Amino acid sequence: MKKVGVISCSGESEPEGTIARNAVRLVMEKYRPGATVSLCLPLYLAGDEGERDFARRFPVIAVDGCGKACAKWATEKYSGKVQDCVDIGELLKEWGVSERLSRSHPGRLENEVTERVAREIIKKMDEITG
Ligand code: SF4
Repeated sequence: MKKVGVISCSGESEPEGTIARNAVRLVMEKYRPGATVSLCLPLYLAGDEGERDFARRFPVIAVDGCGKACAKWATEKYSGKVQDCVDIGELLKEWGVSERLSRSHPGRLENEVTERVAREIIKKMDEITG
């Protein structure tokens, strides 16, 4: 099975960062187990060669909470171009979600958005793996 790396931003202070991490977990545990390798952004930034080497050898999708694109930026700085990326802030605009999302008390809206982001990631993974 073709492996795809998914690296989520670690936006602790932003609800979109939490959504990014939770969506990646959904993909890894529920939708594409076995095909998804989750890369740890803090470990990656700390210089872990295993994470960086994986991103050099396998396609990677960066999932970022906002346009600052920390996960994408870090991957491209240390390993090379990402195969694709997800910007949750842009998706929310596209989907017309303007309510303030909660980071600490996720409810129905946050869960729905997380599911939708997971589906976006899956779509991109399926394009990569064919
Ligand atoms: S991409 Fe945005 S939300 Fe994610 S860590 Fe960077 S600044 Fe924070």
